[in-house]
Amino acid sequence: MTDTDPSTEPLPATWYEATRVARPQHPRLGFDLDVDVCVIGAGLAGLTVAREIAMRGWSVAVLEGGRIAEAASGRNTGFVLPGFAESVDGLVERIGLDHTKRLWALSEQGVDYVRRTIDDNNLPGVDPVPGWLRVHQTDEPDRVRADVERLRWIGADVEMWPTEKVRAELSSARYFSAVHWRNAFHIHPLNYALGLARLAADAGCRIFEETPALSIDPAGVRKRIVTPNGRLRAAHVVFAGNVQLGNLMPSLAQTLLPVNTFVMVTEPLGNRLKEFVRYRGAISDTARADNHYRIVDGDRLMVSGRVRVWQADAGRFASALAADVTRKFPGLGRVEAAQVWSGTLGRTIHRMPQIGAMAEGVWVASGFAGHGLNTTAMAGELIARGIVDGDDTWRLFAPYELVWAGGRTGAAVAQGLYWWRSGAAALAGSLSRYRERRRLAKAERDAAVAAAGPVIPPERLPADQIAAAPVAAAAPAADMPSGAPSGGQPERRKNRGKRRGVKKDGSEGSAPPDAAPSPESTTH
Ligand SMILES: Cc1cc2nc3c(=O)[nH]c(=O)nc-3n(C[C@H](O)[C@H](O)[C@H](O)COP(=O)(O)OP(=O)(O)OC[C@H]3O[C@@H](n4cnc5c(N)ncnc54)[C@H](O)[C@@H]3O)c2cc1C
Repeated sequence: MTDTDPSTEPLPATWYEATRVARPQHPRLGFDLDVDVCVIGAGLAGLTVAREIAMRGWSVAVLEGGRIAEAASGRNTGFVLPGFAESVDGLVERIGLDHTKRLWALSEQGVDYVRRTIDDNNLPGVDPVPGWLRVHQTDEPDRVRADVERLRWIGADVEMWPTEKVRAELSSARYFSAVHWRNAFHIHPLNYALGLARLAADAGCRIFEETPALSIDPAGVRKRIVTPNGRLRAAHVVFAGNVQLGNLMPSLAQTLLPVNTFVMVTEPLGNRLKEFVRYRGAISDTARADNHYRIVDGDRLMVSGRVRVWQADAGRFASALAADVTRKFPGLGRVEAAQVWSGTLGRTIHRMPQIGAMAEGVWVASGFAGHGLNTTAMAGELIARGIVDGDDTWRLFAPYELVWAGGRTGAAVAQGLYWWRSGAAALAGSLSRYRERRRLAKAERDAAVAAAGPVIPPERLPADQIAAAPVAAAAPAADMPSGAPSGGQPERRKNRGKRRGVKKDGSEGSAPPDAAPSPESTTH
């Protein structure tokens, strides 16, 4: 399925390309080479494995079919979060609590690895900004509280933010309580990947760009890899090619479902952005692949969302992503897209990454889905330790073996589920906002009644106050059609508010509002 033919469409420029640090050109492989380890793919997974192996003193070469981090690793939203694409509940259900805690700790180590690598090496242009706010669009504080407790139980550093605190940072009537992740942050992922490549090269790793691995013979003690202009022999080969691996290893490629998602950066929004978005960290407001956003360049928003299992022209999603912003923050006014692009992530059926040895000397680091910034770092360390030190911590991922992703049927099911869940989430959000409007209207009515003081039935008022009172319950109202029965049903309803408004001293209290306040009036 294609919306357009991707081979004839130039990829739209990304904001990351426009703001990246210098990108040195690495050579093509034009000769035969013998190394200890050959890594296929220079995304974040391949670069981390290669750097870690080189730092341990082994010889390593990276083959990259295009340019470094040209695929998902240089096109993503840049959220570095603990955990995995699979939910905590899903993990516990499948592997039990203790095993989940151990995997969770590894995922946190992945976050720490990225932070440490940036800090220790002063990587330029990566600009880490702390915090992740996972906002709920439904008003379920008890559920959020329970989530926070469960997450703390497995070792996550989280706190609950009540609705008022969320809305103090994000002025949207769509938002209720949130989970705040203190150990998360966001970065410029392309600059991080380019920094990682430099560190790997400094440690002795040889990187070859525009050098696709065309075929491989993984059977012998020395694996043989063929590229257009040179061959490579290595004791170990690491497949870190994500969904682009294709024909090189079809059995592996078929275990990944390619999922396209889209990223937009707005034109500068000026000072008005601060009125609505004051939180500087990463923000997600659904549990699905969309919507995630953050401030970049001081006054622009980067927004990612929407999912297609087929190739689609990113430009077609610009207005949809801009509309997502105005739905959240109507007061922002018109939002224009400056850049929009797509990226392809590789998802496994079990939503967990594929990490470890498939055969003697044949390793895989793949399937990180939309949660790859911490997990590629974690996988890089685990595989390097596995190859060089014989450490088998990677076996903790053994329950998540290679499973066929279902081909076209799997893709169709995934797309259908995405649409269905999006619809269900939108409905749940509308219901929550409706309930909140009703609750606020009732609270205002109750406050007005309380302010009015106790109600005294007119027949018990002193005679002089009955004359002063604006309501004559027993007498026909001035505008009552002649002949209408006094004290009839419609009149009782009509006068109910006024009667409540009669204070003990006979003066008129303020009438409660007829309609619930608009969502905006409750927050802005
Ligand atoms: C739009 C988008 C937003 C995302 N946002 C986030 C986020 O905020 N946080 C997060 O944690 N994750 C996010 N992700 C996911 C994350 O980007 C990926 O999980 C991660 O980058 C995967 O890294 P990788 O190294 O496995 O694969 P890739 O980055 O895809 O790299 C694989 C590389 O292998 C090369 N290759 C493949 N086959 C061959 C071959 N035969 N020969 C030579 N080279 C080959 C490819 O050219 C490619 O460069 C997002 C993904 C997308 C698409």
